[in-house]
Amino acid sequence: ASKSDGCNAYRFYEPNMDEHAHKRFVLENSLRKALEGNEFLLHYQPKVDISSGDITAFEALLRWNHPDLGLLSPAEFIPLAEETGLIIPIGEWVIRHVCAQNVVWQKEGLSNLRIAINLSGYQLQQQNFLEFVEESLTDTGLDPECLEFEITETVIMQNPDFTISMLNKLRDLGIHISIDDFGTGYSSLSHLKRFSVNTLKIDKTFVSEVESSATDAAIATAIIAMGSSLNLRVIAEGVETKGQLEFLKEKLCDEMQGYYFSRPMPPEKVTEFMRGKQIRNPETAA
Ligand code: C2E
Ligand code: MG
Ligand code: MG
Ligand code: MG
Repeated sequence: ASKSDGCNAYRFYEPNMDEHAHKRFVLENSLRKALEGNEFLLHYQPKVDISSGDITAFEALLRWNHPDLGLLSPAEFIPLAEETGLIIPIGEWVIRHVCAQNVVWQKEGLSNLRIAINLSGYQLQQQNFLEFVEESLTDTGLDPECLEFEITETVIMQNPDFTISMLNKLRDLGIHISIDDFGTGYSSLSHLKRFSVNTLKIDKTFVSEVESSATDAAIATAIIAMGSSLNLRVIAEGVETKGQLEFLKEKLCDEMQGYYFSRPMPPEKVTEFMRGKQIRNPETAA
């Protein structure tokens, strides 16, 4: 292909592209086709109340079943999706899909299950984001209490006034809000108190070292203490060992998520997993 192919917006392969550029080129072109090809799927990882063992929610984690490359994790394509703007339709697919999936699970008897969705900053900046979310809830009939958004501090700090007012509107609908990867970004506590976030999520980089690094143990402890005094729930992500869980329990961390309890699972495993398990009513889990 060359320029003479006409006035479309596609970028064409050039033989002198380096390997990285070539891989990106291939990915970008296939990413454009992934939605219509129905190549995205979500895996779900439970969040667990540490003291009761109840499941409080599941987090939806995006995967791309690439026709040639196999199952790709978000780190391999979310940055590209953000650069190309494709994160908007992909993110909309995730929201729609999660709402519809949750309604299906409710019909199968998993009532009051809350599902968390990771949001990219670009999504929140969309003019129609709030309307899109409201529409997805109305169209599927999902209770807003059964929906949660996870958003990083970095995203909030990029445009704090706008983002906080948007998050407050989502909260007003009844949607839960968590701050993801807490402790790794530059959040300012003065911004934190300006909106009614439900949960702080301690980043797994701290969690993985709580037993071996005094600094990481101190940071995790401080986040738990701060969350508790601000009346927020605190969840630790990336819990992989019994020792980490014991540490968190002792510090009175509310919830945990991680391979130690369960890896993310495909949707067909969720109902089986939940059979006989206690689900916490979202109303009381706030
Ligand atoms: P995150 O939201 O912080 O999700 C936690 C990541 O840690 C997930 O990786 C999860 O599979 C992994 N994880 C869970 N438990 C453990 C554990 O015990 N040990 C270790 N080592 N890892 C654990 P994943 O699924 O690859 O997702 C990576 C990131 O991609 C997510 O980080 C999130 O920021 C982003 N992401 C995932 N799905 C979406 C999506 O639908 N939209 C957007 N915009 N971003 C998404
Ligand atoms: Mg997350
Ligand atoms: Mg996280
Ligand atoms: Mg993380």
